[in-house]
Amino acid sequence: MNSVKRIVVVGGGIVGLATAWRLQQRLPGAEVTLLEKEDGVGRHQSGHNSGVLHCGLYYKPGSRRARLAVTGIRQMTEFCAEHGIAHEICGKLVVATEADEVSRLQALFERGQRNGLQGLRLLGQEALREIEPHAAGLAAIAVPQEGIADYPAVCATLARLVGSVTTGAEVTAIRRDGAEWRIEHTKGTAAADFVVTCAGLHSDRVAALTGRPRASRIVPFRGEYFLIRPERQFLVKHLIYPVPDPGLPFLGVHFTRRIGGGIEAGPNAVLALAREGYRKGIVSVADTADALLYPGLWRFLRKYGRTCWDESRRSFSRRMFCESLQKLVPEIREEDLMPGGAGVRAQAMAPNGTLVDDFDFVEGEGELHVVNAPSPGATSSLAIGAELAEMVTGRMGA
Ligand SMILES: Cc1cc2nc3c(=O)[nH]c(=O)nc-3n(C[C@H](O)[C@H](O)[C@H](O)COP(=O)(O)OP(=O)(O)OC[C@H]3O[C@@H](n4cnc5c(N)ncnc54)[C@H](O)[C@@H]3O)c2cc1C
Repeated sequence: MNSVKRIVVVGGGIVGLATAWRLQQRLPGAEVTLLEKEDGVGRHQSGHNSGVLHCGLYYKPGSRRARLAVTGIRQMTEFCAEHGIAHEICGKLVVATEADEVSRLQALFERGQRNGLQGLRLLGQEALREIEPHAAGLAAIAVPQEGIADYPAVCATLARLVGSVTTGAEVTAIRRDGAEWRIEHTKGTAAADFVVTCAGLHSDRVAALTGRPRASRIVPFRGEYFLIRPERQFLVKHLIYPVPDPGLPFLGVHFTRRIGGGIEAGPNAVLALAREGYRKGIVSVADTADALLYPGLWRFLRKYGRTCWDESRRSFSRRMFCESLQKLVPEIREEDLMPGGAGVRAQAMAPNGTLVDDFDFVEGEGELHVVNAPSPGATSSLAIGAELAEMVTGRMGA
């Protein structure tokens, strides 16, 4: 019998990579292997996001998201500095543009303080204009700790540190064989004492490969971006966000500076017809059927059908998209917007139709699954990885 502990991590996004690396640090004698279905790492959410370092302003105090964002941003910033990865703490403004948003802004400010954020400031109109001269708003929160980072470079660095990463290896089955797992993938079969899955947009299905029922379902929400024409980029200095809708886990269309240069506007949140549906025309019959046969989706639509419809209309209308942006920066015009990229959020939905708010991990004998890792999953990835490594260690009795 093999005494070396063998751990297989499924999924080479930023969470899987960070977890594999943390496992190697936590259990130096273990053999950690990572399997990724694409030809490279970070090809899905981790390579298609806003690139923002979130510090935990929005999340419910005491939740995993709050806790792991607060520690995660520190760890991520240190990691970037240590490995020469581009990042910048440029600060963010969350702007209330309507009277009813001012009380929500105040509540957000208090939440940020309860989450332990340092240096938060409530600003009036004049002070907000000193930071962002072209932003409109009645009041704002200045969040000085936040910034931007090159997450694809973080993924590439983590892959190099982990070493044992097999790409082009889609996991198709995970079976118990006595005391070990047999993990079948498109490049062969791996044996493991412990399996950790971090499969992003496919996390519910991959977790179910070990035989457990899917407690929640991934419902994909595409987020589309525009780029601001170079000659109009002077309109945005840093990061400008609206006050989020408290009923939804998305932050609303915002302006972000990209670490490689340029300003992005978005993302919206449109129900997608494919889990990897990065463009409007992409339809997956299997993914659509999976979503439509899920009672949770219908319960969600009963509550948020109107919002989903508005988001879909805005997705087809540059004018509507621009109107949303003009609430934050009134001088922005339709002709300032050039088509940008898109990302698809892996959002877990509960059977009662609510969108699972917190990071969600499910564990069992010899198995641990990440079943919900929405934003700020990239910021928090190293902290998530450390927490998962601790859980695996506890389970293995190591
Ligand atoms: C539009 C958008 C904007 C966002 N903005 C931010 C932001 O500004 N800041 C922030 O902190 N977070 C942001 N996020 C969230 C962040 O990107 C995610 O939380 C994070 O990337 C999740 O990482 P992951 O590794 O769980 O998922 P992913 O990056 O999706 O990785 C999952 C991996 O699993 C692989 N996989 C799936 N199935 C299999 C299989 N069967 N076998 C092998 N491999 C498999 C996939 O190919 C993929 O590489 C944003 C997300 C989106 C979509």
